[in-house]
Formats: sequence, structure tokens, C-alpha cells
Amino acid sequence: MSNLDRQATLSVCGGRGFVVAEPVRELLAPRHVQLGESTEVRRLLPNLGRRMVGAWCFVDHYGPDDIASEPGMQVPPHPHQGLQTVSWLHEGEVLHRDSLGSHATVHPRELALMTSGSAISHSEQSPVPHPRYLHGAQLWVALPDSHRHVDAHFEHHATLPRATAPGLTATVILGSLDGATSPGTTYTPIVGADLALTAGADVQLPLEPDFEYAILAMSGEVHVDEVPVLPGSMLYLGCGRTELPLRAESDAGLMLLGGEPFAEEIVMWWNFVGRSNEEIAQARSDWMGGDRFGEVKGYEGDSLPAPELPAVPLKPRGRVR
Ligand code: MN
Repeated sequence: MSNLDRQATLSVCGGRGFVVAEPVRELLAPRHVQLGESTEVRRLLPNLGRRMVGAWCFVDHYGPDDIASEPGMQVPPHPHQGLQTVSWLHEGEVLHRDSLGSHATVHPRELALMTSGSAISHSEQSPVPHPRYLHGAQLWVALPDSHRHVDAHFEHHATLPRATAPGLTATVILGSLDGATSPGTTYTPIVGADLALTAGADVQLPLEPDFEYAILAMSGEVHVDEVPVLPGSMLYLGCGRTELPLRAESDAGLMLLGGEPFAEEIVMWWNFVGRSNEEIAQARSDWMGGDRFGEVKGYEGDSLPAPELPAVPLKPRGRVR
């Protein structure tokens, strides 16, 4: 999915001033964002209280939605730069097409990882026909300055490594967890994992003390470090942990997001990550002019126009909180 917000705001994110060095338990409420006519998502990042977790800079949780009699996800071609997109499903299917000619149907717990480098465009749709329910998360990873102009590429990893403990199956999406390493390409020290807990599970998840972490709850009743986290909410955990207590009252689905705190400041607007206002304005102008971002072949319909840039230019940021 993408940022379809017509009043896209500029955000400055990153920088170590945001990072909490010690373990904390900071509950982040979602912002409800309407995408198109029928889909509402819960946006966890960027959040008023927190902009990034490691290099993770954008997190939307959507569904489960009954789309039996609806078109489901319909995101027209739109551009990206300076980031990687991670599509993660618990239910349903998504058909991905991009300007490199990729064409992939993504199923639950498969990794669709698109590295934009300096330019790519893609569309995402529920296929026809499609399963009744759609439930997943759309996430972005900011690319560091050293690699933000790499060649665009798309990876579809249908099989991912798993780590298990009694009551827990962890699927490693990016990076490593408990000795299991994802084949997905990464550019900063980062981890993403899907955590499937069975009712009654009471486990300690091994963590890296140098990483900051958050847990996104997607389904079920779960306590994360003794804090109840409802589906559609995120608990920020700070740094300095070697393990994380997880307790499930029912079968539950979570995502673990973490990484080395992202030291660079980035500018995010609409579907672009850059380093300055000027760069963002140039990206908008290139997309609207049909330059640089390529063409998504096979998509029936118009591309997504960029919203207007905010009238007030972005100022260098102070702390967000
Ligand atoms: Mn997108």
C-alpha cells in the first residue's frame, strides 16, 4: 500500500535525539487514515510521539477487512525514492506490479521487499478473484545516505527462516533473530519478525541491547513486558534490552520491529524520503512530469497524482517530544 493522504505533511525524522537509550514501555496510539473509498488503515509510524524505530519509518496496519464483495486493495501506480517497502500479510493476497516489470502475487507470511533506490513506481491490488479477508501491514525502511541511490530492485521471498520456542513461531522478515537470518537485502542493522503466539504462551524473546524496538499488535490478546497491547497499537520499547517477555491470553499475531537507531535526519513527504525540501520538490515535479520513475505496465487505470506540497517550507526540526 502507499501513502494516499491528500494532505500529506512533511516530516523530519531520524537523528539520535529521538532515541530512548534505556528500556521503556511507550504505548503509541494509531492515527486512522482513509485510503481510497473503502479502506481505513491505522498509522503507527510516523506518530506524533515517535517518528522512527531503527530505520523503520512508516507503518500502516490494515484489516482484517471482509472484501468478499469489494475490490479490496486498489493502489494505482505511484512513485517511491529513498526507501524500501515491506508488504506483510496475515490474510489475503496482493498483486504487485512495478516499473522494473515485476509481477508477483504475495501471500500471507511471504516477504515482498521493494528497494526504490532513487526511483521506482509500483501498483498494489487485490487480485480477481481474491480471498474473503485482507489483513496486513505496509512498512517502509529508510535507506541510509550511503545506499539511497542503489539500483531499484524487487525481491519476493516466499520462504523465510523461522525461530521457535514453546508457543511461539517467529518468522524472520529482515535481519536476524535468535540465529535465523532473512534473505532480504538490508542496508542498516535492522530486524523485522512476525511473531505467532498460541494461547497461553509465555516466552522471552532474545533482543540486541544496541537496537531500539517496538511491537506492533495485529491480532489477539497479548501482554508485552506486562503491558496489554491491543491490535492496531504499537508499544515502543527503547534500547538496552537483552530479552522481551511476551504472554498471550489467546492466539495472537505481532510484529517485532527494531534496529540500530537511525542517526541521519531524513525528510519524508508523501511517498518520498529525501534529505531536503528541494529534493522532495524535485521528486514531486519529476513524477508529475513523467520523468525518472518509469512506468507500471499492465495496470489498467491512471497513475496516482502527487498532492500539492505544503505552502510552508519545512524548517529544520527540533525534538518532536
Ligand atoms: Mn507504495
